[in-house]
Amino acid sequence: MAGVRLERVTKRFGEVVAVDNVSIDIEDGSFVVLVGPSGCGKTTTLRLIAGLEELTEGNIYIDGKLVNYLAPKDRDIAMVFQNYALYPHMNVFDNMAFGLRLRRFPRDEIERRVRSAAAILGIEDLLHRKPRELSGGQRQRVAVGRAIVRDPKVFLFDEPLSNLDAKMRVQMRAELSRLHSRLGSTMIYVTHDQVEAMTMGDIIVVMKDGKVQQVADPITLYNQPENRFVAGFIGTPPMNFVDGIAEKRGRRVFVAGGDFSLPLSGEVAEKAQEYIGKKVSVGIRGEHFIFPGKAITGTVDIVEPMGSESYVYFTAGGVSFVAKVHSTVLLHPGEKVSFGIDYERVHLFDEDGKRIV
Ligand code: ATP
Repeated sequence: MAGVRLERVTKRFGEVVAVDNVSIDIEDGSFVVLVGPSGCGKTTTLRLIAGLEELTEGNIYIDGKLVNYLAPKDRDIAMVFQNYALYPHMNVFDNMAFGLRLRRFPRDEIERRVRSAAAILGIEDLLHRKPRELSGGQRQRVAVGRAIVRDPKVFLFDEPLSNLDAKMRVQMRAELSRLHSRLGSTMIYVTHDQVEAMTMGDIIVVMKDGKVQQVADPITLYNQPENRFVAGFIGTPPMNFVDGIAEKRGRRVFVAGGDFSLPLSGEVAEKAQEYIGKKVSVGIRGEHFIFPGKAITGTVDIVEPMGSESYVYFTAGGVSFVAKVHSTVLLHPGEKVSFGIDYERVHLFDEDGKRIV
């Protein structure tokens, strides 16, 4: 087990800055998820930790030791890739044993480690099978097993579940979380899927354009996003935004943009007073609309029943919104609808996207 520290890490590929001055301190034994849209630099960050890419600038420490110049095989890490990278001609046992044989582990130790990893993963019955005789989920377990037998200081996962169907992904997500609790190892996991990040990570690192946007636990990330990007990236359905100018009319503060103005109340209204005449954005999560209410009136576009709740897509003054309501609320396309807003939970962002409240 070991902590991992990235200190002002930058990676350039010619003109492209894939990773831009990233500093992250990953505690020993934690499950950290790097998440962000395609091209944000998360895979490159992972590959830098693994030693598969050379740093342009900065330092990486594993277990307190500078590893900038260490070969991947000497870093005591094990990486699980998206495509599993199993050897097709070897059976499961040999796939899992391969790395240990290369390192000249004694035969009985290899046997012990492979059987123990297979038991942890519930694949004892598959040890004689070839990868082509396995389902996607089973292949994934073998790939994880190959990492476990190494007993590495740090596990690195690069989108390991993206080749699985939706149901299998949910199951493997829980399995990997359980595996983490059981092994207590440091795990660094890359995904573009914010749900995967939220459900698995002790700590989530949100990246965009090679830069870290926020490092926080899932609930902090959800309730106190540092900026508009994080606010919009984390959460389903995504946060609603009203972009406009903060205006004062009489004693009330509004955010007005185009044909639409949204009245504010409570702390957001107070804070918006300091931005009168300036561009701001108001962020409202779907579940913070109150039905019925009277802060905002629009027309229902579509309703998506999700089971216990429904997503109501509606338009008000040319702006599109999505509200989450209890499934007992029955609304129909074309219908007029008015919502209240839980202003205590509403966010305000400045022109640069930084959260004010
Ligand atoms: P994805 O989810 O699509 O894999 P990512 O967040 O993992 O995206 P990276 O693969 O780290 O992103 O890539 C970050 C940026 O660096 C991208 O603009 C990508 O095109 C660029 N990049 C990555 N590898 C190379 C390379 N070997 N040569 C040149 N550019 C690269």
